[in-house]
Amino acid sequence: MIRQYYKEPYQREAEVQVTRIDGNKVFFDSTIFYPEGGGQPGDRGTFNGIEILDTQKDGDDVAHIFKSSDGIKTGDTGILILDWGHRYSFMKRHSAQHLLSSVFFKTLGIGTLAVHLADEHVTIELDRKDVSPEDLFTVESVANELVRKGLIIEQKDLLRGDAEELHMRRSIKVDDEVVKVVFIEDQDAVACGGVHVSNTREIGEISFYSTELIRGHLRTIWKVDDEAVRTRRGNLTAVCEISELLSSPHDEIVPSLKARLDELERLRREVRGLSSRIARMEASSIAGDCSVYMTDLPLEEFRDVLVSNERKDVLIIRDGEKKEFLYIGSEEHFTVLKKLLSLKGGGRNSLFQGSYSQRGDVFCSLAEEVINGFKR
Ligand SMILES: [Zn+2]
Repeated sequence: MIRQYYKEPYQREAEVQVTRIDGNKVFFDSTIFYPEGGGQPGDRGTFNGIEILDTQKDGDDVAHIFKSSDGIKTGDTGILILDWGHRYSFMKRHSAQHLLSSVFFKTLGIGTLAVHLADEHVTIELDRKDVSPEDLFTVESVANELVRKGLIIEQKDLLRGDAEELHMRRSIKVDDEVVKVVFIEDQDAVACGGVHVSNTREIGEISFYSTELIRGHLRTIWKVDDEAVRTRRGNLTAVCEISELLSSPHDEIVPSLKARLDELERLRREVRGLSSRIARMEASSIAGDCSVYMTDLPLEEFRDVLVSNERKDVLIIRDGEKKEFLYIGSEEHFTVLKKLLSLKGGGRNSLFQGSYSQRGDVFCSLAEEVINGFKR
């Protein structure tokens, strides 16, 4: 089986022959499809127009995963066509990751513990708990300078001993006698079986996105090429919108937003104070013969007033987003109410609270009937 993806990583089409079929897996005498490995996903595309969903290593062979292999026979010849957009974007992301890891190592002495190439970003987990934003932006600048320099990226097959002599930033993780080493001129060399672009210029643009702490290590997230541009434009659009909403220039949106949030908090406290005062006034003005009272104020404000006024058999309801009630009366009466009106909730010492499900006015008249029954 010829691994054409290493010989000609830019080849998008190839004539191949089917050597064997195993369920939905099809094997060819040669392939331009890269099988998932080293953090890079398997390739997608078509064989004679039939969709190949994924490509995976299978022992020493490469399995092309179809939805079904119906219509394909051993010995068939045909054309493999690569989903080039998918493959090329991952070649760029993979090369960008090597470049970033090399800059972290050479510029800051920070090692890479793990990497992940995702559809929309690249993550690099570092052997540190924190790295300052200044350092992260330095890595971004140096990496982009190296992108613009147009450094040559080459993959070479080296004997294990020769590869070990290079004292690469990351130890060799395979047992093979011949090791694939990816060189970015004299900037970086690392053992890697992935497929890469041949010049750093193809990476386009690298931009720092965010960080998160994972198992005590800092995971840095990066956007590459189209995603970097899309993210930059998205961020700028958001800043413009926020700036317009706040009527503040771009460089003042953070202090302006902080001031608004402080103001909001002050107003919230003021509203809480006022609604509590109004609720207490309402609570003390509820007539003695009133059994059900509807309000849109917080129920807990009614509790103390009604208890100190020694009210009995009175139900306060709040018919808002949440349908809440507060009942002051005996446990025996509450049990009857709960059952007849299908209330949820409970309480003790003559105080019961919870929720109801009926429409407010319907609930009110039903409750009134029941409570007036207690008084008769
Ligand atoms: Zn790699």
